[in-house]
Amino acid sequence: MENINMNTKKPCGFWPLGECKRGDRCDREHHANLNPALVGHKAVPGYNVPNETGEACLRCMSRIYPCDKKGRGGEDDPCSECRWFGGENCRCTLLLNTSYNDQIWQTMMQRGAYTGYTLPDYKGGEEASGKKDPPTPMPTHRFKAGWQGEAKEVLLRKTDMLPPAVRQCPRAYLVPPRVSGAQQKSQNWQAAEKRKRDANDDMPPPRAASTASYGFPQLPPAPTFPQMPQPLPRPSEHSLCQRPHPTGSVPAPPNKRQRNESNPRSHNDAPMDMDSAGVEKAAPSDKVKQLILNKEAVDVDDNGYTSDEE
Ligand SMILES: [Zn+2]
Ligand SMILES: [Zn+2]
Ligand SMILES: [Zn+2]
Repeated sequence: MENINMNTKKPCGFWPLGECKRGDRCDREHHANLNPALVGHKAVPGYNVPNETGEACLRCMSRIYPCDKKGRGGEDDPCSECRWFGGENCRCTLLLNTSYNDQIWQTMMQRGAYTGYTLPDYKGGEEASGKKDPPTPMPTHRFKAGWQGEAKEVLLRKTDMLPPAVRQCPRAYLVPPRVSGAQQKSQNWQAAEKRKRDANDDMPPPRAASTASYGFPQLPPAPTFPQMPQPLPRPSEHSLCQRPHPTGSVPAPPNKRQRNESNPRSHNDAPMDMDSAGVEKAAPSDKVKQLILNKEAVDVDDNGYTSDEE
């Protein structure tokens, strides 16, 4: 049941994070299934995708399977899934810098508007993914003698660790993902470049320095966006989520991104104070227009995906 989205607008990278300051004036796509306010309106109340790091190996994380690698030894002590289905070249190691939340966010974004930002259907242990051959056990010489774990039959009886509603509307059960090392470097570089530009510029400092006040010194201050001469209408919203309220009643998104949060289960449901006040009334100067263009280039890179990937 995948809806085809015919909207050809480029996606707004800030919208799913709850960080779009433009609100209805944003000329990028604000997809209904990425609305951060969905977190407060989930079909399975209280459920959040696990967000602890070091909970699963790569294979289990990417397939969204429960993993029993935690507490085991090296590659010769694989998790049960890898032992029975990892095949010839499997190297089972615990992922220490990412979580199911982070991986599912990535999958959701990569699937894109074409699938309505959903997750793929659940596949059981022995189902081949795509055109690949069905999974096979790790060869016995690859794991230690006396390996212990769950029996193959037990694994095959397992069902999806995610409630079905999560696959239909993952954003409602996620928090913004951790920033990877590569993304962090890129952001630091962009922030430094922006500071250089600002230093050479006689523009007043941006007023809405919202990110700075949340203790993310690596991020550049959020610029203000002068009112665009002809704001484009907001795309017609269509709810792909099965939730009990009409789409129009979804409140504004939360007002800060929860990066690297230490208490991942707490979602911020506070409505966003939309940036409706303090908007420049004059038409933007050329300098400001250039800043907007620069900012748009940064917007895309900041969030680790580009709208050109579609
Ligand atoms: Zn936006
Ligand atoms: Zn595993
Ligand atoms: Zn594994």
